[in-house]
Amino acid sequence: NTKITQDWLQNYVDDWVTFYQKQTKDGEVASYIPILKEADPKHLGISILGNNGLSVRSGNVDTTFTIQSISKVFCFIVACMERGVAYVLDRVDVEPTGEAFNSIMHLEMRKLKKPFNPFVNAGAITVTSMLNGKTPDEKLEPLFQLLEKILGHRPSLNLDVYESERDSSIRNRAIGYYLVELDYLESNMDITLETYFKQCSIEVSIDDLAIIGRVLANDGLDMQTDEEIIPRKIARLAKALMLTCGMYDASGKFAAYVGIPAKSGVSGGIIAVAPPRVREEVLPFTEGCGIGVYGPALDNQGNSIAGIKLLKHIATKWDLSIF
Ligand code: GLU
Repeated sequence: NTKITQDWLQNYVDDWVTFYQKQTKDGEVASYIPILKEADPKHLGISILGNNGLSVRSGNVDTTFTIQSISKVFCFIVACMERGVAYVLDRVDVEPTGEAFNSIMHLEMRKLKKPFNPFVNAGAITVTSMLNGKTPDEKLEPLFQLLEKILGHRPSLNLDVYESERDSSIRNRAIGYYLVELDYLESNMDITLETYFKQCSIEVSIDDLAIIGRVLANDGLDMQTDEEIIPRKIARLAKALMLTCGMYDASGKFAAYVGIPAKSGVSGGIIAVAPPRVREEVLPFTEGCGIGVYGPALDNQGNSIAGIKLLKHIATKWDLSIF
């Protein structure tokens, strides 16, 4: 058992980021939201923030990107904080779909009383409709406040991405109409969709994701201040959903091969959460950590192709799996 030094950690992660950066060419950046095509497919970056005080960042660490589907985690958390868990779960289920995130199949089948889960678009848009407030900005204010409390700064909104998505949102509008027909939405469809596009356009960095990830790793507690920022019950529920539904229709594989709660987005971001574990061996982050990854070249399911490989590598080497 050797002591893990910051230098060792930095070199180790640098080597593997360089290695996996070469594999970004096997993926493609998202293009159905036109502006996302502008991302550099060769980018790969990771930021890890440990409970033990160790932190490491490597690769393209300074590129910011829109949060996209990762916002679904925080929107769900805020809706639960505003309305209560029972209210939200009465209106959205917690089952993985095995379908693409923007599938309308289950809505068309009409066998369900509520959308499958809050991390597919149908469920996420339903959750967004539950947020308090009349306008999109009013609805999103508590979400911004939560992020500001965790990060120490208020994240900005990327208006170009917001407009690009709003102006190309044929599928999400189709989902919206289904949701209206099924009577799932709690606010006006246009306002709900506008709120959803805005929440997806929040600009973040991998460091931001690592900081938020660490709060989730600690069941909602801020290590620095000891304050419970997210109620424990809600943080744990969000993590269960991340594990079962967080990585699109590859969530099962991610749970099997990486084994930690995570959520990805089409811009190439991933937030991953490694809770504290008891291990005899001295390994880098067994005390728990938050991880942010950015790699806009995506695989067929919509997950960062190199990001997944990098996470699988470190989770295996450092025994991060919760199982
Ligand atoms: N704004 C994107 C959409 O709804 C988010 C999708 C994602 O990141 O999975 O299409």
